[in-house]
Amino acid sequence: MLKQITLAAIFALGLPTVIPAQTTRTTETDRALTRLGDLAPDAVRRRLSEMRPQVYQPGPVLLKVIINRKGLTVITGERVERLKAALQPVLAYHDRDGKLPIYLLRSEQPRAFVDYRAALIITTKLMLITSEAELRGIVAHELAHEYLWEERARAFSNRNESLLREIELFCDAVAAITLMEIGDDPAHFGKALERMTYIGITAGNSTRSETKTHPSLDARVKLNRWLCRRLSSAILQKGVG
Ligand SMILES: [Zn+2]
Repeated sequence: MLKQITLAAIFALGLPTVIPAQTTRTTETDRALTRLGDLAPDAVRRRLSEMRPQVYQPGPVLLKVIINRKGLTVITGERVERLKAALQPVLAYHDRDGKLPIYLLRSEQPRAFVDYRAALIITTKLMLITSEAELRGIVAHELAHEYLWEERARAFSNRNESLLREIELFCDAVAAITLMEIGDDPAHFGKALERMTYIGITAGNSTRSETKTHPSLDARVKLNRWLCRRLSSAILQKGVG
């Protein structure tokens, strides 16, 4: 409303009628990035720690329900230990090291998700198709969902599709920043996203185009590339200073 009044006032005064796009419309990517301020690593750390919800530690009963509902086989043994070791820096960055149980499930779908904020679930297929650094990027995206958990739940119930996509882009940005912070190349996240999407398309459960809940692959990769440039120039500036 305020914007309409301002615009009406501008037109009434006879000022230029061509308004730059960014003053009248904010994209989902812009809104996602605004949540992270100027992207300076220290400021992002502070902001995330303010947004971080308390650890949710459900009883073993809930975890069992989750596993049974998925109907998938839990893998144990050395592979899982290797997985946990590879993911440790990401969990530590998000203050979830030793606080979020990790399950490796046998599945042909390349997927990772945090279920009910109770457990981090990764499938064998995802482990197979990603490098460790790529997997860290994907897991960082999943952990980022915890920061906006309630907001996302509300967006689902209000069918606020644009907000759902904005939240995905926020998680993508957090994934890239996490990789940079733990010493990985943020580009690994973009590569993993592309591969997961293409394999998902082949499996008939994914699309390159925007959906009600997710941005298009192009929008996500574009954001990752922009962040890679932005974050590497920030490191250079830091080094020079
Ligand atoms: Zn997501």
